[in-house]
Amino acid sequence: MNKTTPCIVALACALGLAGAAHAGKLADLLGNQNLQKAGSQALQGISITDAQVAQLGAESVAKMDRENPVAPADNAYAKRLARLTQGMQREDGLALNFKVYLVKDINAFAAPDGSVRVFAGLMDAMGDAELMSVVGHEIGHVRHGHSKDHYRAAYLASAARTGATAMGGTVGSLAASDVGAIGEAALNAKFSRANETQADEYGVDFLRRHKLDPQGAVRAMQVLSEKGGASKTGFFDDHPSSPERIKHLQQYIARKK
Ligand SMILES: [Zn+2]
Repeated sequence: MNKTTPCIVALACALGLAGAAHAGKLADLLGNQNLQKAGSQALQGISITDAQVAQLGAESVAKMDRENPVAPADNAYAKRLARLTQGMQREDGLALNFKVYLVKDINAFAAPDGSVRVFAGLMDAMGDAELMSVVGHEIGHVRHGHSKDHYRAAYLASAARTGATAMGGTVGSLAASDVGAIGEAALNAKFSRANETQADEYGVDFLRRHKLDPQGAVRAMQVLSEKGGASKTGFFDDHPSSPERIKHLQQYIARKK
């Protein structure tokens, strides 16, 4: 798998999935283009509701759960995440579920249905507050609708590419391979700078809400910056650099005191 996906530096936004080898051609195609643009070029008459986007998210995550090593409940990583996320099944109007993938990558993601997946490598690299700032950041992308936008765009791009008839026009008629490819494309798509800033701020608010140290968000960014610093991802071409994001986080934390 690709271990230097831009999202690792971007505070674990999308994922270099352990199951990336299963990605279809569609994911390869969609992952390399601007999904919003592709979505806007979709066929007339094809639409997808918020409920369908959530369903698509749930189905794509279910597929990834089958293809990745999910930590059983009695696993140390699973126990730690369960402890940290206790009582968060209803969070800020969202229904959330959490699982750990036993892979060494430093990554995490959340899907529009509220599925949050955390990679063991991320848990190894971070203390509790840092880890939960990343979890909060990912939930922020869901809460603000960024994840939904990516899934919707990936779906519409897929519909445009394969044709409305082949897609059937409904989420329910999608083949498992299409669901997987759309999910991969959506989760690998880059978030905008504005989206990242919103998610960063949500992560700080999330820490405060759960009585965790808001500085964990800064430390998490520093860890990710160090871990991702050696990789040439192209991330800095179109995203705010980590020093800028760290500075913004510090200012946001100070402002909210
Ligand atoms: Zn993000």
